[in-house]
Amino acid sequence: MFPFTLEKARTAEQAIAAAAAGSRFIAGGTTLIDLMREEVERPEQLIDINALPLAEIRVENDILVIGALARMADVAAHPEVQARQPLIAESLIEGASPQLRNMASIGGNLLQRVRCPYFRMLDAPCNKRDPGSGCSAIDGLHAGHAILGTSDHCIATHPSDLAVALVALDATMRVLGPQGERSFPVEDLFRLPGDAPHLEHTLLPGELIIDVQVPAGAYSRRARYLKVRDRASYEFALVSAAVALDTESGQIRQARIATGGVGTRPWRMRAVEEALAGKPPQRQAFEAAAQLAVREARPLRDNHYKMELLPRTIVRALELAGEVA
Ligand SMILES: Cc1cc2nc3c(=O)[nH]c(=O)nc-3n(C[C@H](O)[C@H](O)[C@H](O)COP(=O)(O)OP(=O)(O)OC[C@H]3O[C@@H](n4cnc5c(N)ncnc54)[C@H](O)[C@@H]3O)c2cc1C
Ligand code: SF4
Repeated sequence: MFPFTLEKARTAEQAIAAAAAGSRFIAGGTTLIDLMREEVERPEQLIDINALPLAEIRVENDILVIGALARMADVAAHPEVQARQPLIAESLIEGASPQLRNMASIGGNLLQRVRCPYFRMLDAPCNKRDPGSGCSAIDGLHAGHAILGTSDHCIATHPSDLAVALVALDATMRVLGPQGERSFPVEDLFRLPGDAPHLEHTLLPGELIIDVQVPAGAYSRRARYLKVRDRASYEFALVSAAVALDTESGQIRQARIATGGVGTRPWRMRAVEEALAGKPPQRQAFEAAAQLAVREARPLRDNHYKMELLPRTIVRALELAGEVA
């Protein structure tokens, strides 16, 4: 392994002040250490942020606030999360393994790197790891890759399950950096690959995620996360759907839908949501609306099956949400 230094920060300000070009914050380390071992990432300095008081989960004015250092397992098991935002608990339980969920933090989850196999193969061209080198997946193995938001430079899917649920729920995030604090929708954290796939998120240099904030809505309780994958656990999504429904008098007042495993970032399905408004929460309406999910998709040779699997997953998730009392 290559040499690097390790600094333990006691306060957020100390962590931000220590951040420099070539440094990385480290929380659970379940993504970063893996990538360092394989030398896909080679930071010169690690700033351990685990001593910062950012693990709290609380409710403020009906908004669920989840600290960036809260562990996936703790968030999933928290009574307020389960009662107020079951979609978040379900998306977390569907991710990784119990051991990983005990270590992995919410901030680290949102900033995890792609799972494209070529990204980790140092001798394969990969624009995300080595800008300008090419994309091995486009003409190579891409059955698991994205059909939405792709470019000629990268087609990797965003891997986080939690991010899909947060985008469906219009969550925001608070970050602190050298220029002070700011908040923005979680959806805006993720960049499309375009011609610069190595730039994955919109954080400014030195910015630290402080927490995510999830507003309550009439749809929050009637919500489900459905993840379709090659094996029942310890596997990333081929397709997933986070859906939340607000219904009244036999009509959908509002639907919230985001999908994973299909987009280069968590993909909000606004056209599907709009098509469902005012319709009865029934299979026929779900099927008609779900077709809109693939309207702008660009499948390749081996991931064409997602054109059918995506609408079906949305329909099934809507049915499951409709069954929630
Ligand atoms: C085998 C395996 C299977 C997995 N399966 C799934 C799955 O099915 N679904 C899923 O969603 N995830 C899955 N994961 C990913 C897992 O959820 C992430 O590894 C984990 O959430 C990362 O959190 P961490 O605290 O360990 O992050 P770290 O590894 O510590 O950090 C990851 C990145 O986030 C940055 N970072 C961390 N915290 C902050 C912060 N507060 N502010 C700014 N930057 C920060 C770090 O600098 C680093 O770049 C899997 C991982 C493994 C290894
Ligand atoms: S899809 Fe993206 S991550 Fe995978 S090889 Fe192409 S550029 Fe690299």
